[in-house]
Amino acid sequence: MIAVVGSLNLDLVAPVPRHPVPGETVLGGDIAQHPGGKGANQAVAAARLGAGVSFVGRVGDDDAGQVMTDAVGGQGVDITHVRTTAGTATGRAMIAVSPAGENSIIVSPGANSRLGAADCEAAADVLRRAAVTVLQQEVPDEANHAAARLAGGTVLYNPAPVTPGTTPPPYVDLLVPNRTELAALTGTDVPRTTDEVVTAARRLRGAGAVVVTLGGDGVLLLEGTAHLHLPAFRVRPTDTTAAGDCFCGALAVALSEGRPLTEAVRWASAAAALSTTRAGAQSSLPARDEVEEFLSRQK
Ligand code: ADP
Repeated sequence: MIAVVGSLNLDLVAPVPRHPVPGETVLGGDIAQHPGGKGANQAVAAARLGAGVSFVGRVGDDDAGQVMTDAVGGQGVDITHVRTTAGTATGRAMIAVSPAGENSIIVSPGANSRLGAADCEAAADVLRRAAVTVLQQEVPDEANHAAARLAGGTVLYNPAPVTPGTTPPPYVDLLVPNRTELAALTGTDVPRTTDEVVTAARRLRGAGAVVVTLGGDGVLLLEGTAHLHLPAFRVRPTDTTAAGDCFCGALAVALSEGRPLTEAVRWASAAAALSTTRAGAQSSLPARDEVEEFLSRQK
C-alpha cells in the first residue's frame, strides 16, 4: 500500500487571448474545472497503475471539497484520512492559458494549508504500514516532517512546487526534484549539463538517493557515489502537465512492488512519457496495462 500526504486542489482553467497586466481585465473563454493538486495527481497516478493508495489531506466544507473527494475516491483512492475543515475553502488553482500554451497560475491553498502533524498522527497506522509514503510541497512542512517521522516504509519526497522557505524533512529515502527544484534546494543556478546536475545533486544532504527528472532529457539517478543517466522514452508529447506527478506516483508503485531502483525509475519514465501524449493532468495518467503494453513495444 502507498500513502500520499498532500494537496487537493480544484483547478479552474480559462483560455485567454493574452495574460492581463496589473489593473487590466481581459475577456477569457469558457472555464473548465478539473481535479488537481500535486498530492491528488500523484495518488490518482498510483491508483490507476493498480496500487492500493491511502490519502492524507484536507478539503474545505464547500462544493469543491465534495468534487475533490468524489474525484479521488472515484479512482479507488482510500479517502478515510481526508478531513473536511469547517469554515475553510478547498484548495484552488486558477489557471489562465494563452494561445501559445503559456500558463499563469494562482494557487489558493485553502484547506491544504491547515494540514498538520495531528492529521498525520491520526493516520499513523496507514503511514506505518505503507510500503512507500509520498510527499510534496503543497502542504505545510509540519505535516511532511510528521509523515516522514511516522512512515514505516520508503519515504519519497518530491520538492515541488518550488516554495521559498520550505525545507524537506531531515531524512528522506528518495528525493525526486526536477532541475528547477534542484536549483532551489541547493541555491545554485538551474543546472543544464549532466555534470552540472550531478554536482548540484551531490550537494544535497539527507537523502538516500536522488532522482532528478529532466523532462525530455530523461532522468539522472544518483545513489552513493554512482550516477546513471536514463534517457527519456521517445514519444510525441502534446501536453507535459503532470508528467512529474505521474513519474512520482509510478515510481512509488514500482518501489512498493519491491523493484530495484533503476528498474523502478525506468518503469516510471515509461508511465510519465505516456502521460505527455495526452491532454490535462489527471486525465492524462495512464493505466497499468497501457504502461506494460508500451514497454513491450520498446527494444
Ligand atoms: P516536471 O513536470 O515535474 O517538471 P519533468 O518535466 O522532468 O517533470 O518530467 C518528468 C518525467 O516525465 C521525465 O523525467 C520523463 O521521464 C518524462 N517526460 C517529460 N517530458 C517528456 C518528453 N518530452 N518525452 C518523454 N518523456 C518525458
